[in-house]
Amino acid sequence: MSILDIRVLGDPALRRETAVIESVTDEIRDLIGDMFETMYAAEGIGLAAPQVGRNERITVMDVEGAKYALINPEITASQGSIRGEEGCLSIPEVFGEVERSSVVTVRALDENGHKIDVEGAELLARCLQHEIDHLHGKLFVDYLSVLKRRAALAKWEKVKDDYPGYVRKVIFEKRGAHHSEGEL
Ligand SMILES: [Zn+2]
Repeated sequence: MSILDIRVLGDPALRRETAVIESVTDEIRDLIGDMFETMYAAEGIGLAAPQVGRNERITVMDVEGAKYALINPEITASQGSIRGEEGCLSIPEVFGEVERSSVVTVRALDENGHKIDVEGAELLARCLQHEIDHLHGKLFVDYLSVLKRRAALAKWEKVKDDYPGYVRKVIFEKRGAHHSEGEL
């Protein structure tokens, strides 16, 4: 397994629609392994394929100790709504409040190509919606009001030069008290 570079805001890979996976091969499982390794190294709780420059419809998550690798995930039911703070591994240091469904059910394939249904509430529901958005070229900043988006992008303007070529090199090291718990 290897740690992949994370693409950051401005890379067109983050705005592309992903391709449905027709069959779950060893190559797909290798990509999933690399995505988990990258997510853990970056201390995130979710990562979608476009964030590592790939266009497969895959996301991985580890929410409160439960691991998920979801292939072709789709929301099949949702209820309620709740606001909460979000961040994204592809928009480092930028956070914003986003309204999401409070409970969602997602249908997907697992790493063995079997159909699974995942029901999530609270943080898991938020993570599922954030990651599935990534698979359709959508980012959490898209939901912010005009003023809040302007503030978020102004913050991004100040830090984006740290990521030349829209690439975030992930170095596996414990980074101490860093505000990254909410990065998806
Ligand atoms: Zn994200």
